Amino acid sequence: MTIHAIQTGSVRIKTAQVQGQGHGLRRRIGVFVDPHWTEWLPTYAWVIDHPEGVIVVDTGQGTHLLQTAASLHPYQRWEVMFRIESEQEIGPHLRAMGVGARDVKKVVLTHLHIDHDGGLAHFPQTDILVSRGELQTASGWMGRLRGYLPNRWPSWFDPVRLDLVHEAFGPFAASRRLTAAGDVVAVGTPGHTADHISVLVEDQGITYVLAGDTSYNERLMLAGQVDGVCADEDVTRATLRAMQHLAADRPTVYLPTHDPQSAARLSNHTLVAAHG
Ligand SMILES: [Zn+2]
Repeated sequence: MTIHAIQTGSVRIKTAQVQGQGHGLRRRIGVFVDPHWTEWLPTYAWVIDHPEGVIVVDTGQGTHLLQTAASLHPYQRWEVMFRIESEQEIGPHLRAMGVGARDVKKVVLTHLHIDHDGGLAHFPQTDILVSRGELQTASGWMGRLRGYLPNRWPSWFDPVRLDLVHEAFGPFAASRRLTAAGDVVAVGTPGHTADHISVLVEDQGITYVLAGDTSYNERLMLAGQVDGVCADEDVTRATLRAMQHLAADRPTVYLPTHDPQSAARLSNHTLVAAHG
């Protein structure tokens, strides 16, 4: 089995989104009043070349995101900037790797934020798995008000609702196997969004965590620092603690979507450093 990091363009957001400042409503408003931008951060999607078939985790950015600067939505208009060229979308990456559309067995989305579902159009023939609650949150006018882009989903988009079961996987209370072998597992990592999931891949004694936006980088996970946009700080902190426990209990490579170190950590199999 091989995991590939696919960079689908890059993104800049406010530093107060990456690391929340203050608490409650003040923390969430802080994203809008923060004058400081991050550097350009990568947006990764992941391709798991698995004996049971290729699994894609998140689909990254699409070129339509270049239009968000003119959006009427205040977050999209003022709080985020994208860079992406058409050949950087996930479809062209897969073709360059020799992976055809029919070779992809399933696509799993950690959540439906616009830089994770931006490549959906490349998978018209594939089963797409989305957690049921996340799909509800992102759909319709309420979804648009929350900053999702359900209006950009392909007309055929009708994902398989992923329901986690009360089957603990390490420190995570809810999980769902994604392969018959049981070596690719979705776990509930609520926080960044209420129904956010992460995908764990076990290969040769190492657990690779395709963490989505559980945290924006590894340091913030280890520090237990919530971001600027999560709805519930306690839930988020509990998820970050669970991730710390996972990394303390077994050799773990932690791979957030926007961590500039994720690709290097994947190729070097760099484990989360032991901590107290
Ligand atoms: Zn997100």
